[in-house]
Amino acid sequence: MGTIKVLSEETIDKIAAGEVVERPASVVKELVENSIDSGATAVTVEIKEGGISFIRVTDNGSGIPKNQVKTAFLRHATSKIDDASDIPHISSLGFRGEALSSIAAVAQVELMTKTKEDLIGTRYIIEGAKEKEFCDIGIPGGTTMIVRNIFFNTPARRKFLKSAQTEGSYIEEICVHLAMARPDISIKFITGGQIKFQTSGRGDMKELIYRIYGKDTASEIIPIDVETKDISIKGYLGRPSLNRSTRNFENYFVNGRYVKSKLIATAVEEGYKEYLMQHKFPFFVIEINVASTSIDVNVHPTKMEVRFTNGEELATYIESAVSSTLRVHEMINQVPLYEEKEVKETIHSAPEPFESRRSETLYENTASNIPDSFGLSEEIKKVLGDVKSREAVPAEMPVHKNVIKAENTVIVNTAVQMEMFEDKILSKDAMEDYRIIGQVFETFWLIEYKDKLLMMDQHAAHEKVKYEALIKKLKEKTIDSQVLAPPIVVTLSPAEYQIYSNYKDRFKDLGFELEEFGGEEVAIREIPLDLYGCNAKELFLDILDELAEGKVRDVPEVVNDRIATMACKSAVKGNTVMTEEELMELLRQMLTLDNPYNCPHGRPTIITMTKTEMEKRFKRIVT
Ligand code: ADP
Ligand code: MG
Repeated sequence: MGTIKVLSEETIDKIAAGEVVERPASVVKELVENSIDSGATAVTVEIKEGGISFIRVTDNGSGIPKNQVKTAFLRHATSKIDDASDIPHISSLGFRGEALSSIAAVAQVELMTKTKEDLIGTRYIIEGAKEKEFCDIGIPGGTTMIVRNIFFNTPARRKFLKSAQTEGSYIEEICVHLAMARPDISIKFITGGQIKFQTSGRGDMKELIYRIYGKDTASEIIPIDVETKDISIKGYLGRPSLNRSTRNFENYFVNGRYVKSKLIATAVEEGYKEYLMQHKFPFFVIEINVASTSIDVNVHPTKMEVRFTNGEELATYIESAVSSTLRVHEMINQVPLYEEKEVKETIHSAPEPFESRRSETLYENTASNIPDSFGLSEEIKKVLGDVKSREAVPAEMPVHKNVIKAENTVIVNTAVQMEMFEDKILSKDAMEDYRIIGQVFETFWLIEYKDKLLMMDQHAAHEKVKYEALIKKLKEKTIDSQVLAPPIVVTLSPAEYQIYSNYKDRFKDLGFELEEFGGEEVAIREIPLDLYGCNAKELFLDILDELAEGKVRDVPEVVNDRIATMACKSAVKGNTVMTEEELMELLRQMLTLDNPYNCPHGRPTIITMTKTEMEKRFKRIVT
């Protein structure tokens, strides 16, 4: 071992930088967050070579006063808090004062900044924590940060970077998230000289979704807008038809901050459960606002994680808000007609910040003017309907808003449900106007109703009816049991036994009859009748596992899955002749369901095709 000594500031900075600056995308995140914190209304991000050789972030925010420029680059220098007591109430994205010092430790940084009050701006160059230049420069208000050659002085770390293309895609993802989190700020992203996207800053999230994800996505989303005195959820939920096989399209923001939270993701997915097939994930963009004192964002320097003080409550609220929003919108799948033509829309380009020509006029035309030059094309207007300002969004779903606000969700939900069925396709009244055409392929039923042709999958529909009936019995605790002879004895670990003891009553409610044998042994004497045929021991242990993970639900997920399988097995199959009377009975049963439109596995039970669509297909009408 060598002699013990205190490391130099430079070395400390380099080591600390590793925490904050992992790759070019972390630099972009920190710089854009600084721009947002500075009150900017427009931010432009430009990168070259995936940000490895060049990153430039320009904003029209407050700027940094000349006499504070050097301080800003010191470690733990921040203008955002005075001491730790400010952290619980923090509303800015940053507060650790680590980003600029870390970036300057591992890259070549050029800063140009000017406040409104100052007549002249400042240019500061710092490379590998070494100051190179500090002088006056004539620029308009705001800040431009250029970061060149990341890790130029730490080759070992540079080697860990992926290809320029991959690094660039991480940056784009960060920019998308930042833009989504702040629809009120115009964000433009340029890579390799090409504008990838540009948001208007108008505050309309639907427009934002159009600009970032395109027309097909923007026309398949449903607004969500609910609040209590402690929590509000606003945004859009993708229709189940937009489902994906990764979680990459799950966007959620807490108090204006893009975060990663298993709690939130799982809660939304639970809300979607009835509508999605297994291993599929929804598209959604939601903003969640909670009191700043009920979250802790101080978990990790990159601040992507959050912890909630009332996590379980929040999760339950999110789940029910999502599922009732989806339910209110009729989820019948429409048969798509044609491949939609790709609509190319030209974004009015905002002039770029200088690099070679640092002229005043050019600068005046940049970030701050973007919203004005941002005309909405007719095509966008068609998809978006009337573009509403952020404040106007709540008006879109008044009924639903009341539903969630009311304490007694169950009762009000039923009311909404009734309303929905009143003038909808699956309703008592509608049924009187049905003209049943008949069964085809011994699997599907064709029904004419008003200007629509309904097509129903008899297996999916029956499966759904069976499934809901079982779930209802479970929820009402009226499930019958089946005696196991002989009983099955299970030996638990002390931890499992503890959980079992805590939740004895739940097992009873689920239709289990259990007997303690002393020690950690439990005998299963009876199991829920409708799950007879499942492996009883495995089911029991799976429920225990779920309870151990803290997931305490009305109907445990594993039971739910088993019920879905049972419903599937016992439902009338495809390729089975059914009479019209049997069909009518099935339809009547479907009317009693909350969501008759999807089977428990998320497949549709009914799809429709309108008369107009048929006419188009036969070219009777031309679009
Ligand atoms: P933090 O954001 O945690 O305060 P940073 O190292 O990111 O720490 O930035 C240090 C300080 O520099 C900030 O507190 C802020 O006062 C100033 N600053 C950084 N970027 C900008 C910007 N784009 N506009 C105005 N001020 C900025
Ligand atoms: Mg910062």
